[in-house]
Amino acid sequence: MRVLVLNCGSSSVKFAVIDTVSKEALSSGLVENIGVDGHFKGKGPVDKQDYNFDCPTHAEAVAAVQKYLGEQNLIDGIEAIGHRVVHGGKYIKSEKVTQEVIDYIRSITLFAPLHEPAHATGMECAMKFFPTLPQVAVFDTAFHQTMPRKAFLYGIPYKFYEDDAIRRYGFHGTSHRFVTAEAAAILGKKPEECCFITAHLGNGSSCSAILNGKCADTTMGFTPLDGLIMGTRSGSIDPAILFFISKKYGYDIDRLDKMVNKESGLLGLSGLSNDMRTLSQAASEGHVGAQIAIETFCYKLAREIGGIAMALPRIDALVFTGGIGENSFLVRKTVMENLKLLGYEIDDDRNMKSGKESNHLISKDGTPKAMVVATNEELLIALDTEAMAK
Ligand code: AMP
Repeated sequence: MRVLVLNCGSSSVKFAVIDTVSKEALSSGLVENIGVDGHFKGKGPVDKQDYNFDCPTHAEAVAAVQKYLGEQNLIDGIEAIGHRVVHGGKYIKSEKVTQEVIDYIRSITLFAPLHEPAHATGMECAMKFFPTLPQVAVFDTAFHQTMPRKAFLYGIPYKFYEDDAIRRYGFHGTSHRFVTAEAAAILGKKPEECCFITAHLGNGSSCSAILNGKCADTTMGFTPLDGLIMGTRSGSIDPAILFFISKKYGYDIDRLDKMVNKESGLLGLSGLSNDMRTLSQAASEGHVGAQIAIETFCYKLAREIGGIAMALPRIDALVFTGGIGENSFLVRKTVMENLKLLGYEIDDDRNMKSGKESNHLISKDGTPKAMVVATNEELLIALDTEAMAK
């Protein structure tokens, strides 16, 4: 099946046309800056000419995608639309899009204020511009809904869970689920036979404990701010730091929000960049901030892996994925050096080649397995959409 995968963010619409048989993206593109001077930019796979459409609203962005796909002769083959949704609230699996689903997504706007309204609007626009196509919502949180209560509760008054559903939800679920299936297949097993630690490391990062193919715990929480140090996000911090900074510097809630979401993480620690490539280069040239950022990122990740491992009876493999996990031999090596207690030992040659010549493995033979598996969230969204749209 050919599936149009839409990722409608607050100011952007990303799209890809995925063929679920060849597993290839036939076309992809991006509308940026919606709400300001929104613009569709792309080169067609068919005639290679530039396409530039003005898209001040989400409706115009989805219309531009439709127009572009029409001009590229791709539209007739598309049989369904899959939407990436950041927060699924109560949903434990992908859902066919109905007005009820759209209303529910809007009703949990407080959980992800920038994303949920954009997802709902994107779905309504897609229904308008592609009225005959079945649509499916695939949630970043759904895979984590198998976490037991002891893993998803926070140590705050229980009434906030009962009244406001404040709990750990977890994100990047599509990626954790995808690499779980891939890693199991690489080991010649079914996912339900496997226990993994999956580390999705990119601009946003999270790590999950996978028990018999299902999520038993994860580092992101009520929002994607929790857990690991990320590009510009702080990850978990002592909440009292916020009270302190507010009292000393007069930061209000919006200013604190900006600090922990946009000014912290690798960027805040290094004072240089949120980008691991830039930091790795700078660290090798002696930039102390970059060295501090990488060292802290890797140690905190190892510390979280050690913690989350307590959800498992054994670890069949530690799986690295995401832009950093798939590409940074430095991060993988440093993390594994911090995991000696669990017995991990990196094979430098395998690591430098990202496991490409060792069936994904980067650990030494005879030591606990660590591997690199490329994620493909769009493919999983397309496969879920195919399964549900039939
Ligand atoms: P993602 O959000 O999954 O696209 O990942 C983005 C992150 O991956 C950025 O921090 C990039 O610097 C990092 N990244 C991509 N390629 C490399 C590379 N070759 N070496 C180190 N980091 C990389």
